[in-house]
Amino acid sequence: MPVLTLRPYHADAMIHDLLIDNAHIVTPTGMVRGALLVHDGRVVSVLAGGPVPEAREVVDAQGRHLLPGVVDIHVHFREPGQEYKATYTSESAAAAVGGVTSICDMPNNGAQAVVSAARLVAKAAVAARSSRVDFGLYTYLVGDTIEQLRDLRDAGAIGFKWDMSLAGTEVAPGVWLPTAAIALPAFKAAAALGMTIGIHAEDRPTISRQASALKAAGRSDAAAHLASRPAAVEVTALREAIALARASGVHLHVHHLSSAAGLDLIRAAKHEGLWVTSETIPPFLFLDSGDYERLGTVMKIHPAVKEPEDRAALWEGLRDGSIECIATDHAPHTAAEKRRGVWEASPGAIGVQTSLMLMLTEVNRGRLSLERCVALMAANPAGIHGLSPRKGAIVAGADADLVLVNLAESAVIRNQDMLTPNQLTPFDGAPVRGVPKRTWLRGRLIARDGLPVGEAAGRQLWRDSGAITCPLPPGNG
Ligand SMILES: [Zn+2]
Repeated sequence: MPVLTLRPYHADAMIHDLLIDNAHIVTPTGMVRGALLVHDGRVVSVLAGGPVPEAREVVDAQGRHLLPGVVDIHVHFREPGQEYKATYTSESAAAAVGGVTSICDMPNNGAQAVVSAARLVAKAAVAARSSRVDFGLYTYLVGDTIEQLRDLRDAGAIGFKWDMSLAGTEVAPGVWLPTAAIALPAFKAAAALGMTIGIHAEDRPTISRQASALKAAGRSDAAAHLASRPAAVEVTALREAIALARASGVHLHVHHLSSAAGLDLIRAAKHEGLWVTSETIPPFLFLDSGDYERLGTVMKIHPAVKEPEDRAALWEGLRDGSIECIATDHAPHTAAEKRRGVWEASPGAIGVQTSLMLMLTEVNRGRLSLERCVALMAANPAGIHGLSPRKGAIVAGADADLVLVNLAESAVIRNQDMLTPNQLTPFDGAPVRGVPKRTWLRGRLIARDGLPVGEAAGRQLWRDSGAITCPLPPGNG
């Protein structure tokens, strides 16, 4: 497998670009009190005390915490194809302000759905013009053969998305997503290429049945959304996907895991030695069925936010390592689309601007350590997509993607502070403690005190830049 070669550090070479002094720096080997030296977009070294070298720009961190930038591997930035909802300009600004420096964007771009190498290249061109953060792009899982999937990989696919809630449907004219019954050749082809299949684990037939019955019974309350998509919907889909992972050996990544029963299946799959990873998202960690009445369709997302027991189980999954990462499934819609009735409202909530603040609040409450938070939000997601060690960690040679946070600062999340066009967040009014103050992408400041800074300079992330390191493939650990 290809391994990234890191540039060696030449101590005597030059005046460096940036020195961030007087920081608590979270590195993979622990917290270091000292300075971080950056040159040419990369981390040169972490200095624990002693004299500091010269730099063109010196930032006094005033004892605050310096973390690797968040790697959010599940977002929907909508452009091209659905610019009326959001654009790379708006969403990448929100991400930068939230401490996010890398994203992976999903392929459901309406009429521009990413179902071919040409569509992928066109989307990459749009993002390269206006993204403030680095971006990886998913394609749909379309194609049965190694040749077809290799074309997508070579055009820049970071992974293949199999949305099981759309299995058997046309995602673009003449392009169908496979059902589980016919997906094995695609799984085998992805495995042969060393590529990840990312799944939305909800069973389409079960959803249709449940929704029809609820509509017939006259249900129109927001909680009917959960009733139409209970945990059984996730379990049915996960069973099918895990069976395909077993038969193919593919690396299966489960997006937005939402239920205790689903987590049990993932634990069992890992125990069996299958190559299965998962993410969960803040709505599943901070909301539950008790919030539907208050929030209505603002919290309508797919999968549905579930019960308090599911929420508790997901926290336990983060604690024991069964769930490797936190993403957001950031999915903006217009206010009009969100404010329809429960069956018609568009599913999805915004999240890139608030995920780090929400998690740092839990760090402050003692629910998880800062180091664990960094693993879940930066190191592990980077490893899952083969982006380590360039992304997700503060180590010599890595990209200087950094976020300086004030763990002692309190704030309140408010709709009006959101930078996405429709500012409805399910966390409006939530008190947080732990606020991102400055964000750097490859050594360039991209956000400061809640506002984006500088020019858009995001670059595409390519899967072939490194091997999957979280977790290592079975047999290599
Ligand atoms: Zn999504």
